[in-house]
Amino acid sequence: MAGGGYLIIAFCFGLAGGIVGKIKGGSFVIWFVISFLIPVFGLLAAIFMRNEATEPRRECPGCGKVVPAHDALCTRCGTELYLPPDDQLLPSKFAERVHGG
Ligand SMILES: [Zn+2]
Repeated sequence: MAGGGYLIIAFCFGLAGGIVGKIKGGSFVIWFVISFLIPVFGLLAAIFMRNEATEPRRECPGCGKVVPAHDALCTRCGTELYLPPDDQLLPSKFAERVHGG
């Protein structure tokens, strides 16, 4: 039963990919499905995906919107943004609190 064995392996990759995706702030179900359908590459994609939750953020000087630190333009008011010094970067927990309300 080679087919059954493959399904078990694919399921394991799906589970691992789902957990990694979830840790990185993504959806467990989406990464489970991706890693299940394309076992090795799905898991690698989940591992190398940029971690949105720990990305440094900062406030836009024009409107105060919290934007990712690497953004060159504010997505709300269009103010040109320069890479700020480290002490102006906001920890990701602050950004989560703002988004959560
Ligand atoms: Zn702005």
